[in-house]
Amino acid sequence: MEKPDINQALRINHGRKLDELRPCCTDRFDVYIKLSLIEAMTSAEGKQRRLSEAQLARAKALAGIDATDPDVSPPLGAVLADPAQLSHNNTYGRLPRFYVDRLVVCRNCGTEEVWPAERQKWWYEEAKGNINTQAVLCRSCRAAERKRKDAARAAAGHGSHTK
Ligand SMILES: [Zn+2]
Repeated sequence: MEKPDINQALRINHGRKLDELRPCCTDRFDVYIKLSLIEAMTSAEGKQRRLSEAQLARAKALAGIDATDPDVSPPLGAVLADPAQLSHNNTYGRLPRFYVDRLVVCRNCGTEEVWPAERQKWWYEEAKGNINTQAVLCRSCRAAERKRKDAARAAAGHGSHTK
């Protein structure tokens, strides 16, 4: 197969024919890397990746914020807490006044993920999770864990779990 030159490669990519081109480029790292960059900048998947990177960066920046501090005003994007829904917590400590997206480093696989403020509100206020608990697994490890537990339950003969 004829090797593509970089300009041709870029032109072809512009026409979204990246998948056709890539197999013959594996020995051409320069082309491959440039194509990957362009793909990241143009494709929907790339946009999604940039979006989650921005969300991660934001969560990291917000990591130091004390949501229980009465002198701290909720940052943009914060979700306000409902104190009445947090009364199940048997604590003399201060409860959060709001939730912000938090960074979770998966205990299982090390993936960095954002635990969205809305999901935290759901966990603490609707699911009545204890205020000292937090997400420790990423989404895919949580799903795998749930599957494993379901399978174990079914194997133990308590397979009454229905969707
Ligand atoms: Zn994980």
